[in-house]
Amino acid sequence: MIRKLLRRVFSKAPPKATPKHEPALIPVEKHRIRRESISQGARQTVARLQEHGHAAFVVGGAVRDLLAGIAPKDFDIATDATPEQVRGIFRRSRIIGRRFRIVHVMSGGETMEVSTFRAGNDVDSETDAHGRVLRDNVFGNVEEDAARRDFTINALYYNPADETITDYHHGVADLRQKTLRMIGDPRKRYREDPVRLLRAVRMAAKLGLAIDPAARAPIREMADLLENVPAARLFDEMLKLLLSGHAVECLRQLREEGLHHGLLPLLDVIMEQPLGERFVWLSLANTDARVNAGKRTSPGFLFATLLWHEVLAAWEARKQGGEPPIPALHVAMDEVLDIQGKKLAITRRIAADIKDIWILQPRLENRSGRRPLRVVEQPRFKAAYDFLLLRAESGEQDRELADWWRDFLEADTDTRLTMLAKGSPREMPEQKSARRRRRRRKSGEAASAPPDGDA
Ligand code: ATP
Ligand code: MG
Repeated sequence: MIRKLLRRVFSKAPPKATPKHEPALIPVEKHRIRRESISQGARQTVARLQEHGHAAFVVGGAVRDLLAGIAPKDFDIATDATPEQVRGIFRRSRIIGRRFRIVHVMSGGETMEVSTFRAGNDVDSETDAHGRVLRDNVFGNVEEDAARRDFTINALYYNPADETITDYHHGVADLRQKTLRMIGDPRKRYREDPVRLLRAVRMAAKLGLAIDPAARAPIREMADLLENVPAARLFDEMLKLLLSGHAVECLRQLREEGLHHGLLPLLDVIMEQPLGERFVWLSLANTDARVNAGKRTSPGFLFATLLWHEVLAAWEARKQGGEPPIPALHVAMDEVLDIQGKKLAITRRIAADIKDIWILQPRLENRSGRRPLRVVEQPRFKAAYDFLLLRAESGEQDRELADWWRDFLEADTDTRLTMLAKGSPREMPEQKSARRRRRRRKSGEAASAPPDGDA
């Protein structure tokens, strides 16, 4: 170490080769990202930090997505200011996180995540027995910050002031060549943080990239490391993945890489049941379509679909054992959520949403008397009805029931009362209208087409 230092100090010869991490400074003419593509809040935040004499850049997903022609979800900012300094500059801000302390800066309706440049994981970081880094709060310079990021395409630093991108690891070239490349040794990086296994698959699916062979090869053999990741973190990452708008592609790749085991315990079992599998893929395709159309998606709905066939199986077993149906459903729901909750830390609020949707299913099946009028009034009715449509489309529930509800919802009050007075069409098939028959044929054709991305 000392000898190396002395050699460096006394040697007059210039360094032989350019160090690999010499950054490229890419001008706007080359990358074409104008500062107007950055949200106002992010631009202002960067400008304020720079006015205070700090280095500050837009980093991460936003730069990458803009280069790929995708609208960024949010803007992350990196700076040499410490969390306390950032907190001192922005009145509307707060420090969050333990493993990784960052500052949330609020501006207008936006929240920016501002993180201080971190030094690499080799420096003093605390790890668990498997090499997983527990804390990562050693500050460093930009170059070190770039080196500790996961993939080359995520280590791009955009400066709105002069519209340049600083690129330490050839991320721009990798993105053009549609390659997802890990910074550093992939095995080491996966060991430090196994969540990167999932991130690799998500990034590749989202951006249509091929995972570089060196980063792809260890995924299967290192999959077990995910078992040591705290449930809450795994749940966050699964949510990101499932609500990315590319869930079908992500799950297909997870399966290919052997990563679906143990993520959602029993997900593999669900997928092996013919009805369950079709239902899960339909639901994922449906979620993707909603996300890509800019519609709201609820984690509760999604997890309700993913776990439904487990509930059906547990419920059926209890009914066979002679338990009355509704109490049996409640016990079955708790059983399933308990098993899943251990691994995934489904939050209490989301678990409540999931249950609301499940509990309404038998109520949608019972159309006697005036019950349907009361069910429609339930706060979670719309979600439960959408859920029923998916069940019908997957073949698990009668299409007739879904059609009846659709007609009922489209009808005015008088027609609704007439429909109820008639009883359910199943009891009086001769009364089904020609219109309904026509419709059913139409939607039947749609349903028999394979869902987008069915595997
Ligand atoms: P998106 O926000 O679209 O999901 P993102 O790349 O911005 O993608 P974030 O989770 O917001 O993902 O992280 C922001 C940046 O922080 C990443 O681009 C990456 O540089 C870095 N980063 C995030 N998670 C990790 C990780 N587990 N290991 C190393 N770097 C990470
Ligand atoms: Mg981000």
